[in-house]
Amino acid sequence: MMDLIVLTIFPEMVDPYFSYGMLRKAVEDGYIRASAMNIRDYAQGKHRVTDDTPYGGGCGMVMKPEPLAAAIGAARKRCPTARVIHMSPQGRPFTQDVARELSEEDGLVFVCGRYEGIDERICRNYVDDEISIGDYVLTGGELAALVIADAVIRLIPGVLGGEASAEKDSFQSGLIEHAHYTRPCRFEGEAVPDVLLSGNHARIERWRLETSLIRTFLKRPDLLENRSFSREEQDILRGWCTRIEGMIDHERV
Ligand code: SAM
Repeated sequence: MMDLIVLTIFPEMVDPYFSYGMLRKAVEDGYIRASAMNIRDYAQGKHRVTDDTPYGGGCGMVMKPEPLAAAIGAARKRCPTARVIHMSPQGRPFTQDVARELSEEDGLVFVCGRYEGIDERICRNYVDDEISIGDYVLTGGELAALVIADAVIRLIPGVLGGEASAEKDSFQSGLIEHAHYTRPCRFEGEAVPDVLLSGNHARIERWRLETSLIRTFLKRPDLLENRSFSREEQDILRGWCTRIEGMIDHERV
């Protein structure tokens, strides 16, 4: 069972997310244990203050190190082998490969900053990893932690039921996924591609691979740059070349 702990000053924002859909099922089926821990519970004094003004002056507040250190300590006690991840726009970019890597951990502890962020000494001495969900700045790390938790949980073997659905997802094979269609067969005058109604599984698989390649080429050509291609993918690409060359030759004639 993977332990996911989100350290935050707003636990109410986090906990409900694990009560819906596949994540709820993952909790109920015993694949994960997920909850928020309130950093404020580890702060000292009557007012349990978790932030203070920055040394050197300037605007905003900084999250104090003592409550964070104590909260991380409590999370490590619950799951000693967990990886402690600082959510930060300065971290390494989150990708499907990183999600796959994290899905093999026993536990994940997400440290969510607020205001100007957390005291640097926590980043240096208490965290194992620093991850960003993109080159933009959020007001807090909670959404980022939930994005990562969601992407990771669905990769845990068994969570999706048929693991095949995670295997075929966009990025999993270095391509983006083929198109999907469902009933009705004709919608607003547009029909589902014939091949999908053919019942011929080999043809359907070939069509799916080909549309994956086409979509990746059109929408995310960067994904194809350093990727090696299977024999079947090479056949498809050669087929395109032949057709394109045929069109060019026809134009010359
Ligand atoms: N002053 C910080 C900086 O420039 O790097 C940004 C602080 S941000 C307003 C507050 C918190 O939101 C951060 O401590 C971090 O936990 C979270 N956060 C913001 N953007 C994020 C991103 N792109 N990925 C992950 N966490 C993010």
